[in-house]
Amino acid sequence: MDLNTVTEFAPATRAAWRDGDAWLGGGTWLFSQPQPRVRRLLDLDAFGWAPLRETADAVTVAATCTLAQLARWRPADRHFDGAATLARQCCHALLGSFKVHNVATVGGNICLSLPAGPMTSFAAALDGVALLRAPDGTRRAVPVAAFVSGDGRNALRPGELLSHVSLPAAALTARTAFRQLSLSAVGRSAVLVIARRDADDGTVVTVTASVPHPVQLRFPAPPTPAEALADLDAVMDAALDATGPGYLDDVHGAGPWRAAMTRRLITETLGELAR
Ligand SMILES: Cc1cc2nc3c(=O)[nH]c(=O)nc-3n(C[C@H](O)[C@H](O)[C@H](O)COP(=O)(O)OP(=O)(O)OC[C@H]3O[C@@H](n4cnc5c(N)ncnc54)[C@H](O)[C@@H]3O)c2cc1C
Repeated sequence: MDLNTVTEFAPATRAAWRDGDAWLGGGTWLFSQPQPRVRRLLDLDAFGWAPLRETADAVTVAATCTLAQLARWRPADRHFDGAATLARQCCHALLGSFKVHNVATVGGNICLSLPAGPMTSFAAALDGVALLRAPDGTRRAVPVAAFVSGDGRNALRPGELLSHVSLPAAALTARTAFRQLSLSAVGRSAVLVIARRDADDGTVVTVTASVPHPVQLRFPAPPTPAEALADLDAVMDAALDATGPGYLDDVHGAGPWRAAMTRRLITETLGELAR
């Protein structure tokens, strides 16, 4: 795509944010369609962030970490092996070519905030926290599950950028079960469910792709599928009562089908964790 309104390209470290700027991650979306509002691209690579930093308490993923780098993560702490497997499953849920996987970034995927954003699924499922920086240097932290607020909508304020996602060790060492469905073999995710069982048996079910923003169900002990589905119905009914959106209904899947498949995948993931 020829972005003919863009007249400047600058390292993000040396530019003061102004109207018409866009943060550049991998550019796989920015360069894929017209961007009439954009005058200048600010290259986030200039920060030189390490893609992944592992400590005993957390793993910090840079916004500029590519999907390929995340998929190659082999944890130094073997307790995080399950999280690395989940990372690979989520990376593969984005059905792009190796070229896309080698440049698309974790931050770009989350900030684009598409319902089928698999980095949102991954980070939300592991209680990831989005670390944000405003142009005046102010920093704040927002749970990724709350950061994405709708189809293409998120908590970013003008000029704010996502620098890192922090994943707490307690979630990284949990067992997880992953399911993803598309209408076609190489289609965009229509439903993606990740269930997580923590060391204390607390259970978290995260639904993405079938709903406009992540929906999370939390239980102090493993729920039966019927209990989980009752909670899901309550959450979805409440969203509709508030005239919020229910299940997505578009070219990637009809609403009633997505609702049925969401229920099926929740049942399957809980069944896998129970085994
Ligand atoms: C073949 C193909 C398949 C795709 N499939 C999927 C899919 O299944 N699911 C899906 O969600 N998307 C999909 N996409 C869309 C897109 O490519 C991905 O979402 C990708 O992860 C975007 O990452 P990026 O680093 O290239 O973002 P960019 O294109 O660089 O940026 C995307 C947006 O986020 C902003 N941004 C980037 N980084 C930051 C940051 N750190 N802080 C603040 N704002 C930032 C940019 O300004 C821009 O508005 C697909 C694209 C292609 C070409």
